[in-house]
Amino acid sequence: MKILVVGTGAREHALVRALSLDPAVTALHAAPGNPGIGALATLHEVDQLDGGAVATLAVQLGADLVVVGPEAPLVAGVGDAVRAAGIPVFGPSAAGARLEGSKAFAKEVMAAAGVPTAEPRVATTLAEAEAGLDAFGAPYVVKDDGLAAGKGVVVTSDRAEALAHAAVCLDKPGGRIVIEDYLDGPEVSLFVLSDGTDVVPLVPAQDFKRAYDGDAGPNTGGMGAYSPLPWAPAGLVEQVVETVARPTVAEMARRGTPFSGVLYCGLALTSKGMRVVEFNARFGDPETQVVLARLATPLAGVLMASATGTLGALPPLRWRDDAAVTVVVAAHGYPGEVRSGDPITGIEDAEALPDVHVLHAGTSLRQNVAGDDDAAQAGAHLVASGGRVLSVVGVGADLTAARDAAYAGVGRIVLPGGHHRSDIAAAAAQQA
Ligand code: AMP
Repeated sequence: MKILVVGTGAREHALVRALSLDPAVTALHAAPGNPGIGALATLHEVDQLDGGAVATLAVQLGADLVVVGPEAPLVAGVGDAVRAAGIPVFGPSAAGARLEGSKAFAKEVMAAAGVPTAEPRVATTLAEAEAGLDAFGAPYVVKDDGLAAGKGVVVTSDRAEALAHAAVCLDKPGGRIVIEDYLDGPEVSLFVLSDGTDVVPLVPAQDFKRAYDGDAGPNTGGMGAYSPLPWAPAGLVEQVVETVARPTVAEMARRGTPFSGVLYCGLALTSKGMRVVEFNARFGDPETQVVLARLATPLAGVLMASATGTLGALPPLRWRDDAAVTVVVAAHGYPGEVRSGDPITGIEDAEALPDVHVLHAGTSLRQNVAGDDDAAQAGAHLVASGGRVLSVVGVGADLTAARDAAYAGVGRIVLPGGHHRSDIAAAAAQQA
């Protein structure tokens, strides 16, 4: 099987790594990928938002399957363009990706499908926003309706801060926000694969959205994750499949816009029961790094079954008993103004540890110039070029071992000004 993976992040590196371990895969390509992905796949400098260019590349390569990683190309219709060229795609159509692209649309589908979620109110003016905030009371939850790279949501007890975020979102062209009930309780991410009709759940994971230890600081794209969840209630996966995933997939099919790919169910286990916090239309980053580290079934056939409507014929997925923990190493300043260009070293040392692998996110190769420490060697060196730079993954017999491995790996990475959380999976490892 020849596979083209679209995207640039650690999630795509995790997908490419898992696909590279699948004997059914004969060639791997990525557009545009990153230096870590480049060690496993041929990279192509194609704009990942340009559906025509991605489809042309897929045809030229004779790809059997295109896997679209991030939300932006999906919302932009890259999946539709590739499907129109006759190539199976893992990932939804633009119409399906609206479940992520518009929070108001997702709420409408959830209401129609009877899926439990926080009560929403959509606002398009500041007056409506103020009325919404006062109707719900503190803590306030204000969400940008559209895609915002994990930074569109503010949860705060400070009314002025909530209103300020509302004003920023409403100021954008076509600005629209969703204000909703605050959901208490721990969060779980469950990825459910769909082919438009059938659904197959993966294993649950938890991610850490806030920038600093103790869940302090601003929301980020995610600073770490782990799986399994020793504290998750028995029957959670079945409950999510029956009360969230199946009804949502059925509702999307009923509307004539069947959903295939990953329905990422972001859930809160509240005192009133399980509620959907959000839907995403793709694998989560960094949860994918730990979920795929635990998957024993070769990945390519699983993604192909989703892309070709044959999930129902897929044998049950097999999982390793191992636990996995990933810790994100972020650049100086993230999630605020990020400093680029800092040199990254120590990846090979980290990967020399048993049970550790390192996935690239915001990295680039920079040509050596005179004066660089390694300028004596021709070639290039690795530098930070994004907010989240690396995802260091540790695998072990239990969460404590996986955590120890991940942090031993992080300890060998050198990134000037870089930062990471030191408490990823700490509480869960103690409970296990
Ligand atoms: P979202 O982009 O909708 O996933 O929101 C990002 C994060 O904001 C979630 O992972 C939660 O931690 C938090 N959040 C979102 N909605 C709510 C809510 N209704 N109540 C409490 N926290 C929320």
